[in-house]
Amino acid sequence: MRCPCGLGDVYANCCGRFHTGAATAPSADLLMRSRFSAFAVGDAGYLRQTWHPSTRPRRLNLDRHVRWTRLEIVDRSGGGLFDNEGIVEFKAHHTGGVLHERSTFKKVDGRWLYVGATLLTQDRSRTTDVSQSGPPSRSSSPGWRNT
Ligand SMILES: [Zn+2]
Repeated sequence: MRCPCGLGDVYANCCGRFHTGAATAPSADLLMRSRFSAFAVGDAGYLRQTWHPSTRPRRLNLDRHVRWTRLEIVDRSGGGLFDNEGIVEFKAHHTGGVLHERSTFKKVDGRWLYVGATLLTQDRSRTTDVSQSGPPSRSSSPGWRNT
């Protein structure tokens, strides 16, 4: 299958490598993409592993009813090979709307970790039948959030 993050490669050669632990994301935006893909494939373990210990939730329940469909990276600063911090602004499209956030990442022991995010907007499509595919519940909400 094509990787959910939208880079165009097959999953196993893209974010799949990071999910299995075969490789680590070399930049904050690739970590961001791999976390989006982890939401898309339901890999809660990877989401916890890539969460900074200071903000990592004790439990992470992914909402099975939410399908993550597309990721747009809007902006980024830092987060490269020689940086220790980075910010990635993104729009994550899901079956209930679009999540627009700026996420902060830090490199710890050579690995990029997600620290937290500022929620910019959460557009919820009114055309979607909420009973079938509602917006993310707070528990999974949608996990990017540091709440
Ligand atoms: Zn990918």
